[in-house]
Amino acid sequence: MKVFKFGGASIKSAEAVKNLEKIVKMFNEPLLIVISAMGKMTNALEKVTEDYFNRNPRLQQSLQFVKDYHYAIIDGLFAGNTEEVYNDIGHTFARLEEKLEEEPSLHYNFEYDQVVCYGELLSTKIVAHYLQSEKPEVKWMDIRKYLKTDNNYREAKVNYEMSEKFVKEAFHFKDSKVYITQGFIGSTLNNLSTTLGREGSDFSAAVLAYFLDLKEVTIWKDVPGVLNADPKYFDNTVKLDKISYIDAIELAYYGTSVIHPKTVQPLQRKKIKLHVRSFVEPDLQGTIIGDDSYDTLIPSFIFKLGQVLVEFFPRDLSFIAEDNLEKIFGSFARHSLRMNLMQNSAVSFKVLVNNDASRINPVKAELEKEFDVKITEGLELITIRYYDENTIARVMKNKELIMEQRNQKTIQMVVKDLGTNNDTNAEKL
Ligand code: ASP
Ligand code: MG
Repeated sequence: MKVFKFGGASIKSAEAVKNLEKIVKMFNEPLLIVISAMGKMTNALEKVTEDYFNRNPRLQQSLQFVKDYHYAIIDGLFAGNTEEVYNDIGHTFARLEEKLEEEPSLHYNFEYDQVVCYGELLSTKIVAHYLQSEKPEVKWMDIRKYLKTDNNYREAKVNYEMSEKFVKEAFHFKDSKVYITQGFIGSTLNNLSTTLGREGSDFSAAVLAYFLDLKEVTIWKDVPGVLNADPKYFDNTVKLDKISYIDAIELAYYGTSVIHPKTVQPLQRKKIKLHVRSFVEPDLQGTIIGDDSYDTLIPSFIFKLGQVLVEFFPRDLSFIAEDNLEKIFGSFARHSLRMNLMQNSAVSFKVLVNNDASRINPVKAELEKEFDVKITEGLELITIRYYDENTIARVMKNKELIMEQRNQKTIQMVVKDLGTNNDTNAEKL
C-alpha cells in the first residue's frame, strides 16, 4: 500500500492525465492517490475569490476561465462516453455558482476556502472518471469528510485525533484497491471547507500515510528528484539520491520548492519514506528521503525572489525586547505572515517576508501605532546549506549584501540584485 501524490503540473492537460494513468498502471498494488488542482487552477480560483469578494463584475470572466480550462481537458480525455463526467462536473460547477451567487461574508479567508477547494474537487473527479473507464474499481473520495481541521481558514490545522479515526475507517482498501482523493483541503467539524496553506497537497499525502501506517509516499514531480538548486536559476544542478529527514526538513524550511516544509515531519515521526520521482521519466529512481544516516554534503542552494524587508523601530525609542517582540510576533501570527528570516538589534527588528500585500498590509496597519515601519521591496533571499566560501562567491556575483545570518551548516543572505536584468531573464549561475 502506497500513497501517490500528483501535483498541478502532472495533470495540467489531457495529455498529462493520460500520462498519470500510464504511471498508475505501472503499479500493481493498492494505491491512495492524492491530487491537487489542475495546472494553475488554484491561482485562477484565487482570482475568482477576489472578484467575488470585491463584487467585481469580472467574476463571470474569471469563472469562465476555470470552466473552459477543465472542459478542454475533459474534451481531450473522453472520446465517446462523456455523459457521466459531464453531469458530475456540471453539478460541481453548479454548486460553485450557487455559492458565488450568495452575498459574500466579511471574512475573506473563509470565502477563499469555500471557493478555492473546487480546484481539487474538480481535478479529482475528472481523473477518477478517466481512470474508472478502464478500472471501474477506482474510488473517488471526498477528503473533507475525513480530514478534519480547525477553522483557521487558509492555514487550517489538522485535527490529528479525529482525522486519524475517520481516515482509518474510510480508507480500508477492502472495497477498492485505488482511491483518489484531494490534497490541500479538509473541513471543520461543522463541515465547512478549509485549505491547509498553498502547496499543501504533499502535506495531505504525508498525513494520510501517517494515519494509515503506510511505508512510503511517492510524490510525482516535473523534476527528476530533489536537486541541489532550482534549475530555473542555476546551471549544473545535481540530483540528491538520498537525503536524511533532517536535511529535507531544513531544505524545505528554507524554501526548496520541491518539498513543502510541513510534509516531512509526520513522515519522519513514523519513518515513512518519501520518494520524489519524475512523472516525465517515471523509470528513473528520483530522490529518497528517509533514514537520518543518509547525510550528504553536497551544497544546496535555495533562492527566494520577491522578498520584502520589513523593519520596525519602536516609536517610544524603547529597546527591542520581549514586550515589543511579543507585539510583533502576535501580529504576524494573527495575519499568517511568515517570517523567512529575522534579526534584531537594540533599536530595530528586521524581518524578511514574501511579497503578499494581503498579509503585510494588515500587520503594518496594526503595528504602525507603536512602531515606525520601513518597507524595502525587490530583495532576494539566498540560502546555502553546506556552504563554503566558493559557493558564497558563486552566488554573490552582482549582488549587494543587505543582511546575513550563518550557522555551522547554513548561510542565509538577503541581497539586492545589481544587474539590470529582471528576474525572468536573469543570468543563470
Ligand atoms: N492546489 C494547491 C496549490 O496550488 C495545493 C497544491 O498544489 O499542493 O497551492
Ligand atoms: Mg497546485
